[in-house]
Amino acid sequence: MGDALRELREIIADVAALRAADAVLGWDQETYMPAGGAAARARHRAALARMAHERFTAPRVGELLDALRDREGNAPDLEDLDAQLVRRTRILYERARRLPPNLVQELAHASALAVDAWRDARQAADFRRLAPHLERLVALTIEKAEHLGYQDDIYDALLDEYEPGMTTAEVEQLFAGLKARLVPLVQAVAGAPQVDDAFLRQPFDPQQQWAFGMDVLRAIGFDLVRGRQDQSAHPFTTSFSQSDVRITTRLRADDWASGFFATLHEAGHGLHAQGIPPALDGTPLAWETSLGVSESQSRLWENVVGRSRGFWEFWLPQLAERFPQQLAGVDLDRFYRAINRVEPSFIRVEADELTYNLHIFVRFELERALVARRLEVRDLPAAWNAKMEEYLGIVPGNDAEGVLQDIHWSMGAWGYFPTYTLGNVLSVQYFAQAVREHPEIPAEIRQGRFDTLRVWTQERIHRWGAMLNAAELTRHITGGPLDSGPYVQYLEEKYREIYRL
Ligand code: ZN
Repeated sequence: MGDALRELREIIADVAALRAADAVLGWDQETYMPAGGAAARARHRAALARMAHERFTAPRVGELLDALRDREGNAPDLEDLDAQLVRRTRILYERARRLPPNLVQELAHASALAVDAWRDARQAADFRRLAPHLERLVALTIEKAEHLGYQDDIYDALLDEYEPGMTTAEVEQLFAGLKARLVPLVQAVAGAPQVDDAFLRQPFDPQQQWAFGMDVLRAIGFDLVRGRQDQSAHPFTTSFSQSDVRITTRLRADDWASGFFATLHEAGHGLHAQGIPPALDGTPLAWETSLGVSESQSRLWENVVGRSRGFWEFWLPQLAERFPQQLAGVDLDRFYRAINRVEPSFIRVEADELTYNLHIFVRFELERALVARRLEVRDLPAAWNAKMEEYLGIVPGNDAEGVLQDIHWSMGAWGYFPTYTLGNVLSVQYFAQAVREHPEIPAEIRQGRFDTLRVWTQERIHRWGAMLNAAELTRHITGGPLDSGPYVQYLEEKYREIYRL
């Protein structure tokens, strides 16, 4: 058995190295690669991905996993890393083996074509250019779900890839509770006098923006010996190992807040990746599992901490030193209200903290209807606009600011969207638990100190890597189930105060 485990570990180490090499190429592609490198880079990455997939799904891995059945046990102890490794590897192996190789290839090919068509369609605001590709992807996605298998709802099979163990019915129930409270709150805010954020829309020197972001990164504990920040068109985080984590941001000369909160968001993902224990490094126990849990870590720092009044008690004077003209006469209250301005808008990624979730409800309901064949692709733009009107009270003027805005469906990522809202919910539930255990956290944040909170997230969340799904982790941390109550209460208290409702 010792030999089987050693051999399995060797194979996994190779797969992890191939994945890391692909991640380095991907990071470089988004940051420093000259445009001319694109075609060769696509070939190199496809080859690495294929080699990793072949090595991981080889029949030999199945034989080793069979030989290690006893070592795995039924419900392995969280401290038994070998048993956890075998269990996690088996789950990923069985999932990968359920999809026939030609379906995987067809999906990769169809989504590569769809992403090209999507860029073109979005540019031209013309849904018809994307429609035939989406039809093909819906058909292939349904085929994929049938191979993966499900009990009640075809969407369960898709959701499981991004949120293991969670069912469509659970998402529906969670969203219904949120909708009942958030839709009226957004309407009340829309009827209140708007806060003034004009001072945020002036020229802000990008070098000073960068320097301030780096000050905050250091302060919250992002380790610059084991990570770095660069710039890219779309901010992201990637990890080559827990000791080499890359985050990126995007600075806009006339919109300081956009770049700063992108930095904080990715820093939250970065802290998560740096918090994975070294013993899990280079194994599937370190690979991403619940995207909702991942997003809870970025939203924790971006919103719960970064958009709080206490955070800016410490940081506003420092920001004003870098931007004395722009922030002249701006006191804490005015600043706090401006960075929390709420306004129904068309584009998800630019949405505020409160309306953001309504964008997710729209996408969840539409993608479910498409894979259940209750909605035809050709009727999608009209259905999109109707849902935008229902939830946000606004109708996009064209498909570029409507149904064509996101890359996810063209990429073949169906079942992904709910994880964003799940992350929002968990960010507040986990923060509330951290404060229950360490009541000094809010006072420390007001003093620019973040160690207690950061160490808590490392010890209670990051250290488990991929061992627990969202429901298991939440029970482990809070002793109870996933609960949207603290999140709704947080939003209601915060925005009633800001909008004086
Ligand atoms: Zn994120």
